[in-house]
Amino acid sequence: RCGYVAIVGRPNVGKSTLLNHILGQKISITSRKPQTTRHRVLGIKTENQVQSIFVDTPGLHQNDDSEKAINRYMNRAASSAIKDVDVVVFVVDRGKWTAADDWVLEQVKRAPCPVILAVNKVDQMDDKSSLLPFIEAAEQKMDFADIVPVSALRDTNLDRLEACINER
Ligand code: GDP
Ligand code: MG
Repeated sequence: RCGYVAIVGRPNVGKSTLLNHILGQKISITSRKPQTTRHRVLGIKTENQVQSIFVDTPGLHQNDDSEKAINRYMNRAASSAIKDVDVVVFVVDRGKWTAADDWVLEQVKRAPCPVILAVNKVDQMDDKSSLLPFIEAAEQKMDFADIVPVSALRDTNLDRLEACINER
């Protein structure tokens, strides 16, 4: 069994760190060259008969804050590779849900596949009780397949996130 997994999110939420920790530091992000016209393969993990192919989704990058760029990328996203994957992992930072997160949210809502929300950087929380309101607010935004608090940096709960990915 194999599946395509897209890891998406605004800059700095920890996508690269998450991918590196899921794949194991050594494998890391491979190539910048497009392997197919639709996807850039960032890494592959095979475990217990399940092969997960982690891909970059070119339609899901908001590189500029200007209105113009937003519109341009919105249009491009309509035909984005997100429609070709089996599961989307949407990464956010537990500290704050920003306008840029909402932009990504609007894109992932168009995905025909399950979307898992990974709430990253929970290691930075002194008071874990603030996580619940964050998760409750996220639940209102979209019907996520799962919501998983993680720390990509400290490997916290990544096994659970991977289990959720493999279920899809
Ligand atoms: P990307 O832009 O989404 O790929 O984000 P990066 O993986 O480059 O991470 C951005 C910054 O957040 C880096 O300084 C990471 O070390 C840091 N970071 C990523 N994950 C975590 C985490 O779980 N906890 C903490 N404290 N920092 C993290
Ligand atoms: Mg990155």
